[in-house]
Amino acid sequence: MITLNAFQRQWDMIKAEAGEAFNRCGASGWYVLGKEVEAFEENLAKYLEVHSVSGVANGLDAIELGLRALGVSENQKVLTTPLTAFATTIAILKVGAIPVYVDVDKTGSIDLSKVESALKSDPTIKAFVPVHLYGHTLDLDWLEKIRKTYDLLIVEDCAQSIGSKFNGRVSGTVGQCAATSFYPTKNLGAMGDGGALFTNHKEVDQIVRKMRDYGQSEKYVHSLYGLNSRLDELQAAYLRSAVLPRLSKWTSRRVEVARSYKDGIKNKNLEIIVPQKGAESVWHLFPLLVTNGNRDSFQKHLSASGVQSAIHYPSLTIDQPYLKENGRFEVKDDLKTARTFASQELSIPIHPFLTNEETAKVIAACNEWAG
Ligand SMILES: *Cc1c(COP(=O)(O)O)cnc(C)c1O
Repeated sequence: MITLNAFQRQWDMIKAEAGEAFNRCGASGWYVLGKEVEAFEENLAKYLEVHSVSGVANGLDAIELGLRALGVSENQKVLTTPLTAFATTIAILKVGAIPVYVDVDKTGSIDLSKVESALKSDPTIKAFVPVHLYGHTLDLDWLEKIRKTYDLLIVEDCAQSIGSKFNGRVSGTVGQCAATSFYPTKNLGAMGDGGALFTNHKEVDQIVRKMRDYGQSEKYVHSLYGLNSRLDELQAAYLRSAVLPRLSKWTSRRVEVARSYKDGIKNKNLEIIVPQKGAESVWHLFPLLVTNGNRDSFQKHLSASGVQSAIHYPSLTIDQPYLKENGRFEVKDDLKTARTFASQELSIPIHPFLTNEETAKVIAACNEWAG
């Protein structure tokens, strides 16, 4: 089976550095928020070319902490996309804010023209959590123009887009801050949970550093609201020594696999979701639309051909039972394109460890499908 992820292959490649990292942490006698976390934060800040990175417990917390650090609070409206991991919405709900949804565009990420219409018609919207879905970067020039015109607070959700660029600029640097996740399946994955908030604003970074650790400004002095959202030394050591040094090479391999899929997949019932012009995607996922309404049959065909696949995402955030029953939210348009994605999208395997034989097999399986 050609799987969506290949953790064993990854382990075989990195186990020497991972073992060293584990030994280093054990010997240090310091296990949470210490020198390893600091060193990893510094290296990641360099990789992303940002002022600072603060390691936290997971991606969901990173978004929540970002919103809190920007002062987003109860009953404020926060614009976001209905087509994403549910965590994006949970973070908004956790600060007591009201998520407001507009439709996505043909890349699957939020449609910035619809964002502008919503902001024009509803001046009470002051904050925005855009998601660079699938690793495809939003148009960052346009996003920046929107931020300035509407004086918006923006936390970019870069859980799927670590290191992706638009016209040379790194995703996560238009908003006042950005969140990412080190969940194992992400491009920069830990061996457990982890996340980070990154920013070019020193003040934002300082607030997050306190908030992630009970709001402490110094030991036993709690000057801010706080969470327990600390990053372990082990995860940080593993990420810094075994994963981050390989990220750029792994990303290049994802781009290569994406290129062979784009060149090779030719089936009138399949449409490849490509990023905006100017975007350098990090291809967290490789999404297709099955346009003839037979997604189930295509998924079965792939499975019978030895190719795993998954849907991102089978239902919109607003259709999740929790939000329907308990949440307060607003929807600004018909979400037509997002609904098309929910009913037609299917992701095929893309990861740095795919061989050329495997990608050829995936392409053949796609092309053989009669529809
Ligand atoms: C994974 C993910 C998150 C949440 O990250 P966790 O570390 O699982 O909390 C948030 N947003 C998006 C778009 C994601 O893909």
